[in-house]
This record gives sequence, structure tokens and C-alpha cells, in this order.
Amino acid sequence: MTLMQQAPEFLRGVKTPRTLMLLYHRIADLSSDPQLLAVTPEHFDQHLQVVRRKYRSHKFSALTESGASPKTPANAIVITFDDGYADNLTNALPLLEKHGIPATVFVTTGFVQERKYFWWDELARIILGEHSVPDSLELQLTELRSYSFVGITDWNAQRSAVWNLMCQQDPTQRHQLYREVSHFLRGASEAARASVLANLRDWAGLTVADESSCNALSVEALKRLARSNMIEIGSHTVDHPVLSTLSATAQETELRESKNYLESLLGHEVKGFAYPYGTRADYTAETTALVKTTGYKSACSNIAEAIWAGTDPFQFPRLLVRDCDGTSFEKWLGSWFGED
Ligand SMILES: [Zn+2]
Repeated sequence: MTLMQQAPEFLRGVKTPRTLMLLYHRIADLSSDPQLLAVTPEHFDQHLQVVRRKYRSHKFSALTESGASPKTPANAIVITFDDGYADNLTNALPLLEKHGIPATVFVTTGFVQERKYFWWDELARIILGEHSVPDSLELQLTELRSYSFVGITDWNAQRSAVWNLMCQQDPTQRHQLYREVSHFLRGASEAARASVLANLRDWAGLTVADESSCNALSVEALKRLARSNMIEIGSHTVDHPVLSTLSATAQETELRESKNYLESLLGHEVKGFAYPYGTRADYTAETTALVKTTGYKSACSNIAEAIWAGTDPFQFPRLLVRDCDGTSFEKWLGSWFGED
């Protein structure tokens, strides 16, 4: 619970009609989740029960249908997913259909097209996998760093213990390595990411993962997901860069190519966009202007706020949902609706 952004004080007890947009990534039961991206199917089912019982669910596109100023239906929830994980089809869709609740999935098209691991998952596979690793590593990130893996005992117990990037302590140097490389790769170019991952794979004695084990949506799975009338598809760029670090031309390519790919694959217009990472530092006013000129009708961030009549439809705020049971979810969501 403490991992989720709490409603600001001024919203507590104020029952103004409002709309909230929720952000999920994965619906899966994982033994290890260093980035805290997964909600278990059991908990997601409980979340949807709460939404169905207490609120009204809307499609993302319904908020902007009437033009520039967003519609803000009272007691309304909009569910979204970022990245384009295969479990959105296999685990999330059956639950969305069971409860009759729609969702929008923002897809990172490069990972679907090439059927490769998202960089943070590939990093976890290389560094936090079951295999043993050489005793030491020297790695050039922003500076040259040395790591020693001598003396890690019972790695399999260590790797399955609950640990994620929100933890204050790293139990071993392998965990510390994951944290430091993850921090570096978040802001790195696609070429730098590919090079660091290739070096680490060589060091660990691994090869590129087989396509069949990839956890991103395949092209076929994406088409199946999009065929459901519960699902809308939006874009989340091609390569998942920090857009604010790119030139205007490179940003425009990310925006245009992902939109074109999805539109030709799905045969209809793709109107929604979600900024990768989505904090205020991850995109600029220039990015938002480019989102408009490349033809999107609305976009969402990862900034935790409620949606009001004056909300910028090109920066819809969203509440990031972490794994928690239905009771905790109900209490947390209720505070955002001013019910306490
Ligand atoms: Zn993302």
C-alpha cells in the first residue's frame, strides 16, 4: 500500500465528481518482480470487482470524444496498461471480459515487431537468473565500475527472496548490479542499451533468448487482443526511450512509426499515446506538441492526479497500481474519490 501514491490532502473528504485513470503493466504471478510491474490475476480480479461495484468504467477514448476539453464523468475509472505484455491477452483480458470493464493497452511496437524482451526484463534474465556468473565484472557505465560475486552462497534462495528496486538494501552484488545497470539503461540510447546488454550476455555466457520465451505480445497476440471490444490499442513509442533526451526528429520518428505500424496492423486509426516512464522529466512541451502534430488525439503521463474538466488531454494523469488485495485497493482508490 505504501508503494502507491496516496491522494493529496486537499482531495481527502472532498466529494467533487472526478475521473481517475489507472495504470497497470502486467497481470501475472511472478517469482521475482524487481521493477514491481505485476499485479497477480487474483488481485486484479478483486480490483475489477471493486470498480464494478462502486464506479463506472469508461474507455480512454470516451474522455476526449467531444473535442479539446476532456469529459470528466463522475465516479469514473479508466483502466490502462503500458508496454504490451503477452499476459495482457492471456491473464488480463479474460478478467476484463468477465467483469465487462474496458481497458486501453499502450504498445511499445519495436518489442512486438522484433519479439524481444523489454530491456529491464532482459537485464533481470542476465543478472538475476538461476545460472551462476563469473566471479567478477568490470563494466563501463557513466564510469568504470567493478563488481565481485565471490562468496554469494545459496544463490537460488537469494534470488527468490522478495526484492525490488524500492527495497533499501541489496542482498548481494548481483542485486546491486541490476539496480545500477537498470538506472543507467533507463536514460541510455537504444544503441547503448543493446551494447551493454550484449556485453553482459557474453560475460554471463548466455545467448539471446529464444523468441518463444519472450513475454512481450507477439504480432498475432496483439491482433487477438485488439479484436476484443473491451480493448483499445494506443502507442507507447517504438523503443521505449526517455523522449526528453531525444532530438525533435528522433522523437517524431518514435511517435510516427509506432502509430503507422499499429494502424497498418490493426486497420484502424490509433488515437491515444502514453509517454514512456511518463514523469515530468521524461517528456517536454516539445514532445507534447509533436504528439499533436503526428496525429494523436490524446496522451497520458505517469503523474498521479485526478482528472478534471481543465485537465490537458495531452497529459492525462494516471495512478500507478501496485500489487495489493481488493480491500487495500478499495481503501486507496476511495481516498482518491474523497470517500474517507
Ligand atoms: Zn512503459
